[in-house]
Amino acid sequence: HEAKEGGTRVVSYAASQDEASTDRLALVAELRSALDVHDQIVLALQPAIDLATGAATGVEALVRWRHPRRGKLNPIDFVRTVEASELLGPFTRYVIDKALASAAEWGLEGVDVPVSVNLSARSLLDPKLPSDVAELLKRHQVPPRRLVLEITETVVMSDLRVIDEVLGELRELGVQLSVDDFGTGYSSLTFLTRIAVDEVKVDRSFVRAMADSPEAAAIVRTTVDLGRQLGLRVVAEGVETHEQRRELTRLGCTAAQGFHFFRPMPADEITAALRSLPEQPTPDKAAESTGV
Ligand code: C2E
Ligand code: MG
Ligand code: MG
Ligand code: MG
Repeated sequence: HEAKEGGTRVVSYAASQDEASTDRLALVAELRSALDVHDQIVLALQPAIDLATGAATGVEALVRWRHPRRGKLNPIDFVRTVEASELLGPFTRYVIDKALASAAEWGLEGVDVPVSVNLSARSLLDPKLPSDVAELLKRHQVPPRRLVLEITETVVMSDLRVIDEVLGELRELGVQLSVDDFGTGYSSLTFLTRIAVDEVKVDRSFVRAMADSPEAAAIVRTTVDLGRQLGLRVVAEGVETHEQRRELTRLGCTAAQGFHFFRPMPADEITAALRSLPEQPTPDKAAESTGV
C-alpha cells in the first residue's frame, strides 16, 4: 500500500512538472512569434529625476508583454523563462532596439536624456552582445553615452573572464553601466571593484524601509556616500512618498525614480513627460563633449 501511495505521488509530481515545462515551452514558442509582431512586447518607460534640479537623469525601459490570451504580463511572469531559453539573445536585442528607437525619438525633440535597459546576467556571457549593441546604436544614431545598461551581479556569474571581457567591451563602446538593485544579495560591493560603472541604483526594499529601519537608512546613507566618493550617480528606486523624497534629497542622493514622480508609461507619452521637466544644467554635457 505504501509503495503504491509513493508511486502515485511520484506520478502526480512528474505530471505537474510536465505541465509546467509544457507551459514554459508554449511561452517560449509564443515569445518567438511575439518578437516579430511589434506591438505585443512593448516597453513601459519611467524617468528618474535629479533631486537637486528636477531634471530627468534617465529613462528606464521596463518590458511588458501584451499577451493575446493571458493579458498583460509583467517581467516577473516571463523573464525567467526567457532567460532559460535560447531566445534570450533575440529578446535582449529586441528590448535594446525598442529602447533606442524611443531615445532617438525624444532626442529629435531636443531632449538629451539617456535610456536605461535591464540586462539579464546571462546576457553578459554572450560575446556577441557588444557588437550587437554597437550596431543598434549606429542604426538609431544614438550616441553611446545615451544608453545605460543596468546589470545585477548574480550567484550564477560563473565565467568571470567572459563577463569581464563583455563588460570591458561595452565600456569601450562608451555605453554607461549601472548596478541595479544595489545592496541586495545580487548586487554587492565586489562588483564595483571588477568594473568601472557610472551609476548604482539603491534597491527599492531599502527605500521602503528607510523611515522605520535604522539599518535600511544606514545602507541608503552609505550608498550615497560611496557614490560621492567614487563619482557615481546614485539613483533611489521605488520612491513613493514626499517623505522619502525629502530624506533622499537631504542625504544628497543624485536622483530618484518611483511612483511619487512618474509611473512607468507607454512610449507615446514619454516625450511629452520629458518636455514638461526642467532641462539638466550643463556640467554633464560639457564632460560629454570633451570626451571625459
Ligand atoms: P528593476 O530594474 O529593479 O525595475 C524596477 C521595478 O520597480 C519595475 O518593476 C518598476 O515598474 C517598479 N517600480 C517603479 N517605481 C516603483 C514604485 O514607486 N513602487 C513600486 N512598488 N514599484 C516601482 P517591473 O517593471 O515589474 O520590473 C521588475 C524587474 O524586471 C525589473 O526590476 C528588472 O529587473 C526586470 N526587467 C524589467 N524589464 C526587463 C527587461 O527588458 N529585461 C530584463 N532582463 N529584465 C527586465
Ligand atoms: Mg532596473
Ligand atoms: Mg532595481
Ligand atoms: Mg532588477
